[in-house]
This record gives sequence, C-alpha cells and structure tokens, in this order.
Amino acid sequence: MAHRLRIGNVTITRIVERDGPWRAPHLMFPTADPAVARAHLRHMEPFIYDPVTDRLVITYQSFLVETPRHRILIDTCVGENKPGRGAHMQYPKEPWLAAFAATGVGFADIDYVFCTHLHVDHVGWNTRLDDGRWVPTFPNARYIFSRAEYEAWRAEDAIGVHESGPHFRDSVLPIVEAGRAILVADDWQLEDQVWLTPTPGHSPAHVCVNIRSNGVHAVFTGDMMHHALQCIEPDWSTCFCADPALAARSRRRVLGDWADRDILVLPTHFPTPTAGRIVSLGDAWRFKFIGG
Ligand SMILES: [Zn+2]
Repeated sequence: MAHRLRIGNVTITRIVERDGPWRAPHLMFPTADPAVARAHLRHMEPFIYDPVTDRLVITYQSFLVETPRHRILIDTCVGENKPGRGAHMQYPKEPWLAAFAATGVGFADIDYVFCTHLHVDHVGWNTRLDDGRWVPTFPNARYIFSRAEYEAWRAEDAIGVHESGPHFRDSVLPIVEAGRAILVADDWQLEDQVWLTPTPGHSPAHVCVNIRSNGVHAVFTGDMMHHALQCIEPDWSTCFCADPALAARSRRRVLGDWADRDILVLPTHFPTPTAGRIVSLGDAWRFKFIGG
C-alpha cells in the first residue's frame, strides 16, 4: 500500500515497520486515569485503539521526504539483526525493506538522515551489519543528530547506563566514527526549507523536523507525542519520557503554536493515515486526522 502525500514540491512517503495494538493506555501513560482515557477514546477515531485488548494502536515508521534538491529519511525505526533488543522488537523487518524498495529510491540515494532523538526505535536502520562490523546503511547520507542529545547519550554510555539497550553503540556511534554524522544545535536549519524545533523532555534534546515547500508547512514530531490522546491530555507523558514534566511543557508549547494553522503534523507513532492538524479544544487540543 502506498503511503504517499505531497506538500508543495515535496513528496512524503511513510515507510511502516510495524503497526497494530501495542500497550494499554495506563501503561503507556503512568499518570493517566484509565476511566478518563477510555471516555476520551470512545469519541475518537476507532483505528487508534483496540477496545477488545485495551491497547493503543502504535505504528513504527520512517518518512522518506523527496524535495527538488534532497532525499531525506526521518527516523529509522528498530532495524534488523540488532542484538540485545527486547522480544517485542523482534517482529519481521521485511515490510520496512519492501516499502523502502517500492519507493524506487536506493539506500545510496539518501542525502540526509534525521533522527528526532536517539531512542532505540528511531535509529535502528542507521546501520547494517557488514562482515561483522556496523556500517552506515545509507553510505552517502549525512546523519543529523542533535549535539546535546548525542552528548547526553554518550555520557550515559560512558558510565554503562542504557535506558533501552545497546543501540547507542551499534546504531549511533558507528555513524559518528565513520565521519557521517553532523552534530547540530537544536534549532539547526538546512537551507530555508528544512529546520528543527527543540522539544526536549521525552529525551534530553528531542527535536521536531519542519519542512516547508511553496508555502506549505509540515512537521515531523518524532516522540513529542505518541498518541492522539496526548492532544486532549497534554500533561500525559509516557513511561519512556526522560523528564515527563519537561516533555509536557514542550508538548503544550508546540501544540499551542501549531493549533488552528495550516500545518500538517506527522507523528512517528500515529497509525495510518498518520498526518493531521492540531485543532483547539478548550484549554487543550485534538488531533484531526487527514485522509485514511
Ligand atoms: Zn519512539
């Protein structure tokens, strides 16, 4: 299935690695009242929640962004053959490879890889195993990492702390050692069409990636939010957030900034059709899916 949309002169293709029910709302959001979550979900799109198993539907996906000048990949999922990953990440990886191949773009054609942050499900395809070594999957790409995010993970790695596995050493460090990484400020800009917005909290220096073409603005939000419930309840941060209070402040800031404007919002973990707009709802917001 083609997951493709156009903004201005830019084509965005979603490359899905996994899809389907994942975690119960109160496990994903430790401060959530399950009854409040269920009440919200009754009025929301049916494809974002499975009431039979009481699990939120969570997608893992990358975005291929083709501009007239660049081919950009945003977030690289879990990847394959990575050691030490949890059993829940051992699902088949062929769908991601097949979806990527179907774009007609080769790995060597990618100019830039952006990682919104350096968690295990956003860096996996950065590298592949070649004769026992981890090498860049996209050999001609520059990989854009927030310098502050990279430094925070490097410091944790140095003292042997791993939040969710050894992904820093097999999917991030080899990129830096191969000289393919560009460590940037959290508000870095690539020409005037592509720029970052700092949204710290989920991880130390999480960023969103903005694209503008012919006056149309799209923003790839990474894990600034994981589920549409967080527009209605912006203070619900996930069990994976490094600083839940800071994550909530970042979320309120950008949702308020983007609300009721012609900005296409593409959160990594939102299921098909993924894209939507932010609409004001009292002192919070709702996510209005587009298409699907
Ligand atoms: Zn994630």
